[in-house]
Amino acid sequence: MTGAAAILHADLDAFFASVEQRDDPRLRGRPVIVGGGVVLAASYEARAYGVRTAMPGGRARRLCPHAVVVPPRMSAYSTASKAVYRIFEDTSPVVEGLSIDEAFLDVRGMEHISGTPAQIAAKLRLRVLEQVGLPITVGVARTKFLAKVASGVAKPNGMLVVPPERELAFLHSLPVERLWGVGPATALKLHGHGITTVGEVARLSERRLVVMLGRASGRHLHALAHNRDRRPVLAGRRRGSIGAQRALGRSSASPDEVDASVIALVERVCGRMRAAGRAGRTVVLRLRFDDYARATRSHTLPCATAQTDAILTTARMLMAATWPDIERRGLTLVGIAVANLENADALQLSLPLDGHDRDALDLVVDDVRGRYGSKAIVRAVLLGRDGRPPPPLLPD
Ligand SMILES: [Mg+2]
Repeated sequence: MTGAAAILHADLDAFFASVEQRDDPRLRGRPVIVGGGVVLAASYEARAYGVRTAMPGGRARRLCPHAVVVPPRMSAYSTASKAVYRIFEDTSPVVEGLSIDEAFLDVRGMEHISGTPAQIAAKLRLRVLEQVGLPITVGVARTKFLAKVASGVAKPNGMLVVPPERELAFLHSLPVERLWGVGPATALKLHGHGITTVGEVARLSERRLVVMLGRASGRHLHALAHNRDRRPVLAGRRRGSIGAQRALGRSSASPDEVDASVIALVERVCGRMRAAGRAGRTVVLRLRFDDYARATRSHTLPCATAQTDAILTTARMLMAATWPDIERRGLTLVGIAVANLENADALQLSLPLDGHDRDALDLVVDDVRGRYGSKAIVRAVLLGRDGRPPPPLLPD
């Protein structure tokens, strides 16, 4: 992609927590944690103590004992998101929504109507603050990838324009953790080779990076370190869902047998999502009982994911809630679908459920299956039913 820096990445700051601080003046300037179980959002005052999204609530409260913990108010967040999207769509005809609180806007060719990209970005920030009462950060660059990096660097409540001639100097000075797809495991590997900045990554050949990190990760990082990203901003959100289902041989399957089916289905669905570059927020469980009656249960996550473990945890939770029904009525078919799909390219890449780099693991599994077939890697839990206790329902 050539031309001027005219792609905006607009991202609300600590979205859920900012809505709480907006609506309750007593929370302003104080550390706020939304969600008591797992942290759904943390205000910047709480982040200063190391509190992060998706962290177990107990750990968050130990890090920041004086934080105010509030329950989530999803309808308030949804209303705020819609108001912000109206401003996005009023700003440019080309808006690509990434999630409830962030979007790409293409403002090329709007100079005569709305001003320079920097002026458009500044006005957008002012309107969101005045009309919705929320802080938003905007990164402006020539590519989507770099616009997203710029907003990350400018957060919170900031704005950063990366002019084309400054791109590589800006990118190469950053720590490797700023690149998409570099989770804790990849960062650790790179650090092990003495590599801490994007500039140091850029000096390595693609071949060397592939040897170090595996094919998918190596190629991905090589392209990003040279700011190669040709994806255009795609207006509108593609909708739909990706799902799979399986008939059960007999209606009196044991919990372990049903769980094995759920695992296999989730793996298939997540593999397809990742192959299509999609991620989703809503996990749907479909059941058919012995008497042909059907039931549907769903749960919506705070952010989109294509990670097998995150989707599996949710599917198991839905299954556990329905289990008494299943035992009573007999189950003959189980289906898993993920809906509320979004493009996966600029999503929050990892939901660190337990500190491991799940994205990297998923990529490796997909890669091996792509080359050697779907049976090349099988979860240990599917290999044999030897009376071991089933895996835990939820992460700690
Ligand atoms: Mg955000």
